[in-house]
Amino acid sequence: MKANVVIVEDDPRIATHVARGVAAHDGLSLLGTAGTLAEARALLDQEVQIFILDLGLPDGNGIDLIAEIRARHGAGPKILVLSVLGDQETVLAAVLSGADGYLLKDLNSLDIGQQVADALAGGAPLSPTIAASVLRYLRDQHEPPQTEDGAPDLSPREFEVLQLLARGYKNKQVAETLSLSPHTIGEYVRSIYRKLGVTSRGQALLRAFRSGLLRR
Ligand code: CA
Repeated sequence: MKANVVIVEDDPRIATHVARGVAAHDGLSLLGTAGTLAEARALLDQEVQIFILDLGLPDGNGIDLIAEIRARHGAGPKILVLSVLGDQETVLAAVLSGADGYLLKDLNSLDIGQQVADALAGGAPLSPTIAASVLRYLRDQHEPPQTEDGAPDLSPREFEVLQLLARGYKNKQVAETLSLSPHTIGEYVRSIYRKLGVTSRGQALLRAFRSGLLRR
């Protein structure tokens, strides 16, 4: 039984390279390739064992898709991020959203088929600089804080919205769950971003987890 692979990547050159690596590996079968979040969402009902996921996509951030996959399928499918972005904030947002591994795009040295097989076997493939970044974060967590990083003061309703966002809900689903209009939810989300000092959902979740507002 081969493991079904979906590649989410907007750069055709990289998508081709990754597809070749998948094809070269006996245990893997390429189920589909998506160049946008929208195309990837259309594949979410398929039985996928592993997603190889770019983050910078034309219609948004792949981190949102990680949360959606986890909300829909739980811990089942593996998610391996393959990105040029290696900053700590992005890496942690991906990991906290549920990524199983994080590789930097280095096509010359990357044996993607092997990395995918490792992830499927329960491993957590990390590029060396990514692993270093995660370890640094863990060390920092155990040092006394330099500045007071208290939990931002959200209203109970904003907190409720934030919890649903953390479960991968889209604004529309949050609206339905809370029986409010999508417009109102948009207002809450903007207010949450403002209070947390962030501009994206991934950053908001990271900030919320870091400050202890949300727990995993
Ligand atoms: Ca990209």
